[in-house]
Amino acid sequence: MTTLPEWLSDNRDTTALAAMLSPASSRSLETLAAESRAITQRRFGRTMTLYAPLYLSNYCSSGCAYCGFASDRKTPRHRLEPDEIRRELGAMKKLGISDILLLTGERTAAADFDYLQRSVAIAAEEMQRVSVEAFPMSVNEYRALADSGCTGITIYQETYNRERYETLHRWGPKKDFIARLETPARALEGGIKNVGLGVLLGLSDPVEDVLSLYRHVRHLGRTYWRAGMSVSFPRMRPQTGGYEPPFPVDDHLLARIIFAFRIALPDTELVLSTRESATFRDGMAGLGITRMSIESRTTVGGYYESENEERKKKTGKGQFEISDDRTAKEFCTALRRQNIEPVFKNWELSYNGPSSNLKLAMQPEEGQPCH
Ligand code: SF4
Repeated sequence: MTTLPEWLSDNRDTTALAAMLSPASSRSLETLAAESRAITQRRFGRTMTLYAPLYLSNYCSSGCAYCGFASDRKTPRHRLEPDEIRRELGAMKKLGISDILLLTGERTAAADFDYLQRSVAIAAEEMQRVSVEAFPMSVNEYRALADSGCTGITIYQETYNRERYETLHRWGPKKDFIARLETPARALEGGIKNVGLGVLLGLSDPVEDVLSLYRHVRHLGRTYWRAGMSVSFPRMRPQTGGYEPPFPVDDHLLARIIFAFRIALPDTELVLSTRESATFRDGMAGLGITRMSIESRTTVGGYYESENEERKKKTGKGQFEISDDRTAKEFCTALRRQNIEPVFKNWELSYNGPSSNLKLAMQPEEGQPCH
């Protein structure tokens, strides 16, 4: 078995974060919320950047126990062809969306690298920001993807507990814990500008997992100082496989994790998806979260032709159930009610330099934010 990298057990940076996450913490949730809110407003203003996911395909070669797209699920499989992608993009643009996350399962013959690259190129013609949540790739593949218009990738480790990881990932390429752990670094090496990290809360001890997640962010930030980084906190949702999370995370703990991360990583984008309820999302807006998904569909496509039972017979069920199903308009109204401005337009592209992430020649001082 390959040895784990040293940074994964490096506790130099985690003392303050661990103290904030401890049930015995001297700081109440209200105290953390106030501090997190002040930092968020100072660093990000009263804004929320919005994006939407587009599932390109539900083919998958892996067998993750917690996923509705695992290769043993009896669900119809489908992939969007170029004309369908263009139709979906057109429907998304009508909703005001210009920042998109393209998703596929693990690499298969039906949805391989060439398919993904072609899809990115199509999306980049229409959208301002195109990110990808798909299978791990080589440095050269990431370079080609960046050249096709991909600016970001999302790759969750799911859990940093290696034993739990081995059990949950029953077969397929995703079973390789170390290969997945090294994927964000390969993406940055290949010129992808932004990486999104996360753990799927519920799979393993949540506090241990988020401490490892924090070490991962710090490790990457020290090496790739120009990289944009975001962190997500997805909680398990009901899915086709009926997997029950053995470590459920309640609202109180999730809020504490979000506030603690904002305090520990003041400049990092923190993301909350439509997996969470409208009430929880409204509560977290302005308190630490700076990026949210809207109008999510977790079936293949679903924007041009709305999700209905007839369509699901062709494209299969969603990867998981969403919780906040408000329209973009309803969601923006709720944000504005809190004096938070929804941001659909991504200004980053105007001042982004060439698509290369220069490695850090000089390390940041200890205790400093990592990027
Ligand atoms: S989580 Fe991803 S890799 Fe795992 S079964 Fe689902 S789609 Fe496939």
